[in-house]
Amino acid sequence: TQACLKAIEGADALNAFVHKTPEIALERARAADARIGQGDAPAMCGLPIGIKDLFCTKGVESQAASRILEGFRPEYESTVSQQLADAGAVMLGKLNMDEFAMGSSNETSVYGDVVNPWKVDDRRLTPGGSSGGSAAAVAADLCLAATGTDTGGSIRQPAAFTGITGIKPTYGRCSRWGIVAFASSLDQAGPMTKDVRDAAIMLQAMCGHDPKDSTSAELMVPDFEAMLTGDIRGKTIGIPQEYRMEGMPEEIEALWSKGAEMLRDAGAKIVDISLPHTKYALPAYYVIAPAEASSNLARYDGVRYGRRAALAQGDGITEMYEKTRAEGFGHEVQRRVMVGTYVLSAGFYDAYYNRARKVRTLIKRDFEEAFAAGVDAILTPATPSSAFGLGEMAEADPVQMYLNDVFTVTVNLAGLPGISVPAGLDAKGLPLGLQLIGRPWEEGDLLNTAYALE
Ligand code: GLN
Repeated sequence: TQACLKAIEGADALNAFVHKTPEIALERARAADARIGQGDAPAMCGLPIGIKDLFCTKGVESQAASRILEGFRPEYESTVSQQLADAGAVMLGKLNMDEFAMGSSNETSVYGDVVNPWKVDDRRLTPGGSSGGSAAAVAADLCLAATGTDTGGSIRQPAAFTGITGIKPTYGRCSRWGIVAFASSLDQAGPMTKDVRDAAIMLQAMCGHDPKDSTSAELMVPDFEAMLTGDIRGKTIGIPQEYRMEGMPEEIEALWSKGAEMLRDAGAKIVDISLPHTKYALPAYYVIAPAEASSNLARYDGVRYGRRAALAQGDGITEMYEKTRAEGFGHEVQRRVMVGTYVLSAGFYDAYYNRARKVRTLIKRDFEEAFAAGVDAILTPATPSSAFGLGEMAEADPVQMYLNDVFTVTVNLAGLPGISVPAGLDAKGLPLGLQLIGRPWEEGDLLNTAYALE
């Protein structure tokens, strides 16, 4: 813990930690030492970790990297961060992210950009988003692991951009209670770690049924670490043709083939599969996620949480809402709220929101059919490129940024578990990730297949 606290002090340039909690860390580390001294401490005991700013942490600023939550110190702890604390993990502080987890580059944060520890010449690169602070902190050895959340790729894409491992479990595996909501039918928490074994250990501590989240599953949590045998003989791995996008860099194509070969060498059977509705996933996601966000973000009204704008004499409640939301929300968040209220409005609901929900069902069915045909896991690239430069994607063209999520959003729409593992470097020397998608609730199998790719 002390070594990590020291490393964090020396890494301000990365802008990964936005609230440091050294007193809490040292206190928990001492408690962990005592537990270890007594014998049976769990595997996470004493491990210094970072917590994404989207998780409510009792008495510690939890702002979701937004101005509107300035000064918000929750009275409660999210279930997942509580479970980690109960397992003895040591919180070092809160990690930077895109505002309300909306973004793929960590450039929408009120705290400013996070810098990827990987560099090409002197170009400052994005660590990806929205869990950019988590990814950068793990990659730069500021902590041993970190929590992330993934609504459309926010664990897997930053993991790929920084050369670490990130798993989004099946929807319902982890409690969402106490995690600031973005799109409730898509959001899941998950671990971001150095390797698959760490991911298995940390996921174990994070998941389980929680009566406070009605969508959390009442299922047994298997011992994920014990399932890491590396034996994948007889497994069938599907390669979805529709993920072979036009204009995809050759290096990514090559890496994908290399990944398939590694799995074949380990005894798996590689088959071509079709997920025909893939091309509609991104548009459907960018209707459903903003729709849910516009509803979830209605609670930030200047009364209940965080910041209220200064009001002029004669201002009424409408002005208070307007001014608070105008200055409290950044541009991308405002764009999502506008898109969301538009697609949910009476005249357009059927044309956009309902259609997107139908498309979502078709996407889910594509996966179900592949699994029913005997496929155990699906291998794809994690991202269509390696990390790009900070400031390189024009704010004027948000769709360009949205395209980053093309390989990851399908998994959230279908509620499936997905993992990104480091798979090598591109010609520029930057990390690239491969994604494995598994059957619902079979994170153990998925982790084991990912283990064979390591
Ligand atoms: N990049 C996607 C978005 O901006 C996904 C974000 C996420 O998974 N939280 O919506």
